[in-house]
Amino acid sequence: MSAFEEVNYYFRKAARVMDLSAAVEKMLVTPFREVKVDVSIALDNGQLGTFIGYRIQHDKTRGPMKGGLRFHPSVDLAEAQALASLMTWKTAVVNLPYGGAKGGIAVDPESLTPRELERLTRRFVQQIHDIIGPQQDIPAPDVNTNPQIMAWIMDEYSKFHGFSPAVVTGKPVELFGSKGREEATGRGVVWALEEYLADAGLGEVRGKRFAVQGFGNVGSWACRFLHERGGRVVAIGDARGAIGHREGIDIPTLVEHVAKTRSVAGFPGAQGISNEGVLLADVDVLVPAALGGVITEANAKDIRARIVLEAANAPTTPGADDILEGRGVTVLPDIFVNAGGVTVSYFEWAQNIQQFSWEEEKVNAELHRHMREAYATLARVVKSRKVSFRTAAFIVAIGRVGRATVLRGV
Ligand code: NAD
Repeated sequence: MSAFEEVNYYFRKAARVMDLSAAVEKMLVTPFREVKVDVSIALDNGQLGTFIGYRIQHDKTRGPMKGGLRFHPSVDLAEAQALASLMTWKTAVVNLPYGGAKGGIAVDPESLTPRELERLTRRFVQQIHDIIGPQQDIPAPDVNTNPQIMAWIMDEYSKFHGFSPAVVTGKPVELFGSKGREEATGRGVVWALEEYLADAGLGEVRGKRFAVQGFGNVGSWACRFLHERGGRVVAIGDARGAIGHREGIDIPTLVEHVAKTRSVAGFPGAQGISNEGVLLADVDVLVPAALGGVITEANAKDIRARIVLEAANAPTTPGADDILEGRGVTVLPDIFVNAGGVTVSYFEWAQNIQQFSWEEEKVNAELHRHMREAYATLARVVKSRKVSFRTAAFIVAIGRVGRATVLRGV
């Protein structure tokens, strides 16, 4: 299955429970618009660099489309379609007035100089500026994109359309970004887990053991919040290596190490382990927080965690999901768990439109409320329909998008 087919497999599993007709199913899974553009730039050495960019706009029934931009060699049409559709379902799960979109450029940003990266970003905006906009489609950070890149997007878009901070979220706070956006996804991940632990009578984060794959924006903030609450993160991996420590890794010191060396690898006092070793670690909770498709039929039977907390998008393939469900492992799904990022992106957009800025306490309180309400809704569906959290999340999302579609009229 392609990445997009995998998302649609989950969609159909929920659609069957809901008795959706084949025609409605087809309409809801089909993207509204798919854009593929040439993003060629002059490299610093005078040669031509040729790259392909994508923006997939999946659904706009419930509001402007929203979703990140990924700069990674794996970016292709199917991945962007999958991630765009996940954004439609995610914004609906947390009940934001948005649709879903996603995009990116097939590039390894580490192969570019900072000036080339800026040129590439600006070139991409030149190619797609007419289909994005504060009331149309609002990009945000994802893998290998950051607040500086969002600032370039805002600047370039504003050259075409006038001053437009609300065209993109995840901007630096000095340039109309929201307080609390940087940490929001990781913070939401931990709140999602806490809601489940309390509901299932499984106690607190304190004393529990965690393995985290990915130590970028989402993984590193999730680790910090788990550590603050007394959780023991015993295994962490990133693209360059992985480390383990029986008693728990000292996260604040690891953050300093990564700031200097750009990897968790070689962290003093920890053991080097394999990337697969992170996924199979003897822990209570496994937190995939890097790329998609890492929990597969090949490794799902060996995962020792009892809870999989999907901080990454689409980390679990359908075959693996079935194996985990059969083994009684609770999978808390991406479209709920990592929705904190888009939720605070929504607050950023709302602040930009109102030209008014919120204090961080208000951002965090509103984020907490959204995560709690989303969990309560999912938990009700899990219990009443006797389905997994993932199917429940899709049922809630399809219901909201479907009703909005019917009310607006086809
Ligand atoms: P990031 O670029 O900040 O970090 C990615 C991390 O993954 C890095 O530590 C990188 O080294 C690691 N990684 C990459 N390839 C790997 C591999 N093969 N094995 C192990 N580790 C690897 O990206 P991010 O923003 O933290 O995004 C991580 C995940 O969370 C993605 O799936 C993204 O779609 C999802 N997500 C991000 C946000 C957000 O607000 N940034 C919101 C929702 C979901």
